[in-house]
Amino acid sequence: MKYGMNVLLTLFIVMGITQDMSAQKDTTKDNQSLFDDLMYRQGSAYRTADGKPGPEYWQNKADYKIKAELNDQENTLTGKLTLTYTNNSPEKLDFIWLYLEQNRFMENSRGTLTTPVQGNRYNGDVDGGYTISNLEAKVGRKESDKHIISDTRMQVFFAEPLEANGGEAEITMDFEYKIPEEGMDRMGRLKVNDGTIYAMAQWYPRVAVFDDVVGWNTEPYLGAGEFYLEYGDFDYEVTVPYDHIVVGSGVLENAREVLTATQRERMENAAKSDSTVFIITPEEVGQAASRPTSSGKLTWHFKMKNTRDVAFASSKAFIWDAARINLPDGKKALSQSVYPKESAGDEAWSRSTEYTKAAIEFYSKTYYPFPYANAINVAANVNGMEYPGMSFCSWKSNGESLWGVTDHEFGHNWFPMIVGSNERRYPWMDEGFNTFINHYSTLAFNNGEFGSTLNETRRINNYLTNPEREGINTYPDIVNTRNLGYTAYYKPATGLILLREYIIGPERFDNAFKSYIKTWAFKHPQPSDFFNHIENVAGENLSWFWKGWFYGTGNIDISVDDFKAVQGGYLIAVSNKGDFPMPVKLQVTYTDESTEEVDLPVEIWERGDSWTHLLRTDKTVTKVEFDPKKQVPDVNSGNDVFPNSPY
Ligand SMILES: [Zn+2]
Repeated sequence: MKYGMNVLLTLFIVMGITQDMSAQKDTTKDNQSLFDDLMYRQGSAYRTADGKPGPEYWQNKADYKIKAELNDQENTLTGKLTLTYTNNSPEKLDFIWLYLEQNRFMENSRGTLTTPVQGNRYNGDVDGGYTISNLEAKVGRKESDKHIISDTRMQVFFAEPLEANGGEAEITMDFEYKIPEEGMDRMGRLKVNDGTIYAMAQWYPRVAVFDDVVGWNTEPYLGAGEFYLEYGDFDYEVTVPYDHIVVGSGVLENAREVLTATQRERMENAAKSDSTVFIITPEEVGQAASRPTSSGKLTWHFKMKNTRDVAFASSKAFIWDAARINLPDGKKALSQSVYPKESAGDEAWSRSTEYTKAAIEFYSKTYYPFPYANAINVAANVNGMEYPGMSFCSWKSNGESLWGVTDHEFGHNWFPMIVGSNERRYPWMDEGFNTFINHYSTLAFNNGEFGSTLNETRRINNYLTNPEREGINTYPDIVNTRNLGYTAYYKPATGLILLREYIIGPERFDNAFKSYIKTWAFKHPQPSDFFNHIENVAGENLSWFWKGWFYGTGNIDISVDDFKAVQGGYLIAVSNKGDFPMPVKLQVTYTDESTEEVDLPVEIWERGDSWTHLLRTDKTVTKVEFDPKKQVPDVNSGNDVFPNSPY
C-alpha cells in the first residue's frame, strides 16, 4: 500500500499540522532502526529461523580416489582422479563446476593479474598450471568429455542430466602440474640441507560447492579468499622416491610397506605416550636404515572419511616425532610433527607435537571432539595454513610464535573443517571464530606460559578509528590487504569476546556457541544461520550488535555526563555518543571508597541516545565510571568517567 500526496496533505490538515515542514524536526526520534532485524533473517525449508538446517536442508557429497606421483627431479605432480559426486539437491544438474587452483600459478591468471605490482603475501609462481587429460564424466552409462576451463574453474558437462535427490556421477581425469615454489603462502617447496620439503595443498581438482543460497560458488581463486568445499570420503595414494617420508591428512593405510619395523614400533609407543617420542631422530635423517628399501619408489596410501579436503607433505629431510592426544570419552588421536634439522630445538619445532596435542585436547574438551585420527604439523615455507588434521607452519617459527601459529592452524579444524562455512566470502566465520577460541586455548596452555591480550579490546581502537577501516563483512579479495587482519581476525574475535564477557555472559554464550558448532558440524552455515542460532539459543535479540559490530564501521562511545544528589539517591546521566548501542556497566565510587556496580541493559537506548538512571543510596557518590574493567572498545575514553579526573 502506498499513500498519495493528496492523502498526506489532507491528513496534515485534519491533524492540525501546518505545511511548515520544520514541524517534522520536532517529531520524537526513536532508535528502532538500530534494533530492527538484519534484513535477511527469515527461515526457509532449507534453513530455519532459529538457525538450524531445515527439514529440506541438502548438501552434495564428493568422494575422491586419487593416485598421484611426485617427481622430485622435475618438481611435478601427476595424478589420476576419480570423483564420485552425489547430487542431493532438488534440481537436476546438466554440469558441475570444479576448482583448478593450480591454474592460479600462471602468467595470465586472474590471481596473478590482480596481485599488486609491489607484491603481497599471496604472491605465487607463474610457470605452473594444470594439464588435464582423459576427462570423462559418467552418469549411468552415458559418458561425456565436454568441459570448459576458465581460469581456476572447470565446468564439466554430463551427457544426460544428473538426477536430483541422490543422483550419482563419476568424473575421472588425469592431471599434471609443476609444483610451485611460492604457492601463495598456502603450499610450496622449500630447500633445506637434507632435501626439499614439498607442502602439497590445493593439489587435485576439487568440486565447487553447489548450495541453496547462491547455487554454484564459483568465485575465482585470487589471493586472500580461501576455500569452500564439499564433504566426502578420500582414498589417496602418493608415490614418491623411496627415501621420502610422506605425512598426509587422514590415516596411513600401509605402514607395513612404507615404514621400518623400528618406526612402526615407535609409532605404537607414541600412541601410548603423553610426552613426545621420535619416529625418526635427527641422526637418522637420510640414513639407509630409516627406509624399508634402498631404491626406486614407494607408494603411501591414506584414507580420510567425512572431510572437505586432504593435504600431504613429502621430504627426505624430515625429523618425525609424535605423542598421544587424549580426547573426550576415552578416545585417542596422534599428534605428530615433521621438520628439518634446521628447525629442531626446544625453543623451536621440538615442541611442535606438544603444542599440537595441547591445542587439539583443549578444543575437543571445550567445543567439540576432534573427529580425525591424526593431527600433523609440517615445517614448510608457508607462514601458517590449515588443512584437515594437518597444518603447514613456518619452518622458522619458534617459541611463542610457534605456539601461536600451531594453536591457530589446528584451531581451524573446528572452523572451517568441522563447521564448513564459506571462507572465500565470510572469513570472519573461520578466522574470526578461530582467533576467538585461540584466546582461551592460549590462556589454558601450560598454566599460561604464553599470554593472550585479546580481551583487552581497546588495543584495536587505532584500527576502529582509522578512516580507512573496513567492515567485517567485506570479502577478503576486496578488502585492503592491510585491513584483512582486522576484518577477518581481530574485529570478529573481539566481537565474540564482547558478546561472551560483556553482553550476554559466558553461560548463555557458551551454550549457544557450542550448539552452533554441533548443529552445523560437517555442514554449510551462512552468516544468517550463525546470527539466528546464537540469538535463539541465548534467547536474545542481538540485531543491534550484529549490525553495529559485524556489518558496519561504526564505533562505541558511551559517555557518563553527570550525577546529582536527589531525595533518596542520585540521578546518573549517561549518553550514547557512538554509532550503535551497548549495555552500560557502571562503577559508582562513594566517599568511603566502597564501590557498587550498576548494570543498565541495552534497551535504555531504544527511545533515544540519553538516559537517566536513579541510583538509590544513602551514601555520597564521588565518581561514576563506565566500563571499569575496560572490556568495551569504547573509542573515546575521555568521557568514561564523571567527574573527569583532573590532569
Ligand atoms: Zn587462520
